[in-house]
Amino acid sequence: MNLLRTTALGAIAIILPSAPAVAQRYDDAYTAKILEYTTEPFFLTPYVDHLPASETVPTPLDVLGHIVGAPDILSYPAEVHQYMRALADASPRVKVFSMGETEEGREMILVVISHEDTIERLDEYKAILARLGDPRTTPEAEADSLIRTGKPIYWATGAIHSPETGSPEMLMELAYRLAVSDDEFIKTIRDSAIVMITPIIEVDGRAKMVDLHMARHRDPDFPGPSRPLYWGKYVAHDNNRDGIGLSLKLSQHVTRTFLEYRPQILHDLHESASHLYTSTGRGPYNAWLDPITINEWNNLAYKEVKEMTALGVPGVYTHDFYDGWAPNYMFWIAQSHNAIGRFYETQGAGNASTRVLRTNVQRQWHRPNTPLPEVMWSIRNNVNLQQSAILIAMNHVANNKAEFLQNFYRKSQRSIAKATAEGPAAYVFPADDSRLSHQARLLRLMQARGVEVHRANQSFTIDETEYSAGSYVIRMDQPFSRSADMLLDKQYYNPDDPRPYDDVGWTLGPLYNLTTVRIEEPEILSVPMTLMRDSVRAPGGVERISGNPRAYIINYKAANSLAAFRFAHENLRIEAAEESFEIDDLSFGTGTFIIPTSGNGGNLERVLATAGSEYGFTAYGVSSLPSVPTHPVETPRVAIVHTWSSTQSEGWVRLAFDMYGIPYDYISIHEIRDNENLKGKYDVLVMGPSSLDALSTLRGVTGTDPIPWKPTDLTPNIGAQDQTDDMRGGLELSGVINLSRFVKEGGTFVAITSSASLPLHFGLVTGLRIKQTSNLWARGGVFRTQLAADDSPIAYGFGEELAVYFNSSPVFATGGGRGRFGRSGRQAPRTSAAPDPGSTLARRTGRGGRDEEDVIQGRARDLGRAGVEAFEERQDEDEAEADQQGSRATPPPNDNRIIFRFAPAEDLLISGGLKNGAEMAGAPALVDAPLGDGHIVLFSFNPFWRGETVGSYALVFNTLLHHGHLDAGQEDERPTTDQDGDER
Ligand SMILES: [Zn+2]
Repeated sequence: MNLLRTTALGAIAIILPSAPAVAQRYDDAYTAKILEYTTEPFFLTPYVDHLPASETVPTPLDVLGHIVGAPDILSYPAEVHQYMRALADASPRVKVFSMGETEEGREMILVVISHEDTIERLDEYKAILARLGDPRTTPEAEADSLIRTGKPIYWATGAIHSPETGSPEMLMELAYRLAVSDDEFIKTIRDSAIVMITPIIEVDGRAKMVDLHMARHRDPDFPGPSRPLYWGKYVAHDNNRDGIGLSLKLSQHVTRTFLEYRPQILHDLHESASHLYTSTGRGPYNAWLDPITINEWNNLAYKEVKEMTALGVPGVYTHDFYDGWAPNYMFWIAQSHNAIGRFYETQGAGNASTRVLRTNVQRQWHRPNTPLPEVMWSIRNNVNLQQSAILIAMNHVANNKAEFLQNFYRKSQRSIAKATAEGPAAYVFPADDSRLSHQARLLRLMQARGVEVHRANQSFTIDETEYSAGSYVIRMDQPFSRSADMLLDKQYYNPDDPRPYDDVGWTLGPLYNLTTVRIEEPEILSVPMTLMRDSVRAPGGVERISGNPRAYIINYKAANSLAAFRFAHENLRIEAAEESFEIDDLSFGTGTFIIPTSGNGGNLERVLATAGSEYGFTAYGVSSLPSVPTHPVETPRVAIVHTWSSTQSEGWVRLAFDMYGIPYDYISIHEIRDNENLKGKYDVLVMGPSSLDALSTLRGVTGTDPIPWKPTDLTPNIGAQDQTDDMRGGLELSGVINLSRFVKEGGTFVAITSSASLPLHFGLVTGLRIKQTSNLWARGGVFRTQLAADDSPIAYGFGEELAVYFNSSPVFATGGGRGRFGRSGRQAPRTSAAPDPGSTLARRTGRGGRDEEDVIQGRARDLGRAGVEAFEERQDEDEAEADQQGSRATPPPNDNRIIFRFAPAEDLLISGGLKNGAEMAGAPALVDAPLGDGHIVLFSFNPFWRGETVGSYALVFNTLLHHGHLDAGQEDERPTTDQDGDER
């Protein structure tokens, strides 16, 4: 029978197919509150305009004392988790699992909801999806039967972005409704699918957010800030950009859980658009995805848009908001593993207050039904829209379960066929790479993503290149081939394509300073090789060249693990070689660690053997001390500096230091402002990227009354990272003076990207300036730099070229800052107006480097070849020559030491996009500027980007290890200067 249902507000009627014979009783008290808190009838739907009653299962009202979406109420993580556990205790259709802990020790949970029989046999359903997900061992006939018996999993995740507060509330009610409703629409979901819910992804941030909002609801005079300075321990909004590096606990837990359950859909709930945007993105889409996935995005999005629009809800649309290119979002763990990743942006309600909402969203082809320009908005409205739409999507997947499971199997098949269809066949990580610990780290990252890593049993030759036995191979004939390919391949993004939403290039081999070889010849698949069952580790230990070693030598190749080893063994006497040398027929480069046996204790060899296997290095016991100039490898006192305005980007710096166990104090710019004797406390100050310019850093947070950031009875979750009674005020001029004194007294100040403006604008560095680049298009991607000062300790262990992450600015230029009576800095090297490598003639956005061929996924390569136009952009020989000349390093006219420069325009781009590259070609990329007895080290690229730039961490670690000796290798000692900077 059909049931005609009308909402209590009487505005909407819908005919639901085959409703139960006896209508389920409503929870009247709860339902009345839903209607009361919804501001307009058209923000209700038949799916959420009531709550079904249950004799045995508690509602959120029963457990929490308020309904979901009550005004001015936000639930703490502990309350949300408490409710989910109460639900699981009462219903055989619900189970709760722990996913693990966050960095601050809070729990992440997984709620699984389905028919009670399915929950009872959950492991069997997981096994079916695992079988479907690996067509290598599951033939089509078996797959057909598994598709009939299996159930697709739909995983909804909430509150990765802490200010977007509605989804954890909504997910409690959704879980209840799915568990108890007898409505056919809901029963279909329960009977034919499995729903997984993680109500809060960023649990640490949620706790802080609820603290601040509820404190102000409870005490209108509460003086704390309106938004949290920290969300998680390390990063804020960027917690949703860790899908490549998997450095954060939340990414690691989601990935592990995803691989355990193999859901077909991962749906992440966001709240920053009116009224409901469901994702497909604007393109250009990621070029490594199976096109079937993109069809599935559209299928689900259009289903929701159509149904919600038909229900009379205004402002539901798709095809907007982001591009779908970079795989760095959390939900991309699904996209890259033959599943579907998607998200909503709904209109949030922040602190849960009801207020007038104004929008100015124009009608466009993809948005015929625009959001309302002015309307009363409540958190309940947000709950209604999110819940209604996701129920429509879940019901659609349940109703079409065979199609979604079939697609899952098909996409897995096509990922395996990739090796011989579109290619490549494999990636090789050569056994003779000079940074095996970085190689092992990248291979472990692949393993964490479920990617199979093999090791060659014998040497082999492909394309006339011989690879040694022990080389690692990532085969593309495996189910997760795309997950590896999209991170190891090169990217090309045409600057004339629609504006990118985030990074455009991310190739991990170069960013780890590693060799990875893309192999197209399928014959590599026949090379005898063994699947790595355990985590990949770099080899290491002690090798005695001499029977009675006088010293142990560790070749230094800028592997981060050697910095970790040095700081973990502070008491060891270690010298760094300032020149390359040979000893006992072995060759070593600059920066090599020399550890004399004398003065280092009797058990040195045992210490080094243990450390060698832990950190992945070999210590060679040699017959004598090498006769080269050396200086001690230091373990300076380090502080990482934060502002009180934003901590996002410096969080990645802390994360990198913690990853390698480099100790540091964490201080605010107020300590710089207030401490006249910084040198008494620290040797190196590191200031990560900041969202502020130099003047704003000086000014800092403003306001009429003190703004505390510390734990109180109302805000117990605030203050874990740092605390203050007053966030107001910045570095002030006193801070600049203190900083200048610190450096002149021998300190080292490391300033990364935007923070470099501080020493430049306030005259602590001369002969260098930030160049205005009016036409440069160099969005976040991978760029080539060239070594310019190979004898600087900062460059120890690096090669002639280094791939770095750079995003638009700052571009440095030499010259300026000396005043009219000083020596004038020479002009920045001239670059010719070469034809632009990123012009409109360039190929469209897609896989591969700028000069490589794009390849369509999911079909044989030669199918598409004839239609694909290869990029043609050859520079005129003369102009190329002129450009080469122009961007060649010119010795700087002052004491500044340019460590790395950006490459000439035609060599600049490794992955991403570039237009008007001449504006940055040849520019100083990393500069060591002396001041007094100390140094200021300025980065125009970011060595610590989102856990992805492992290969450039060592530039900063080198600066620490050689603090006090950064002038080593200078042909002429630079003149000592007095406190005023005049030469003596
Ligand atoms: Zn968001």
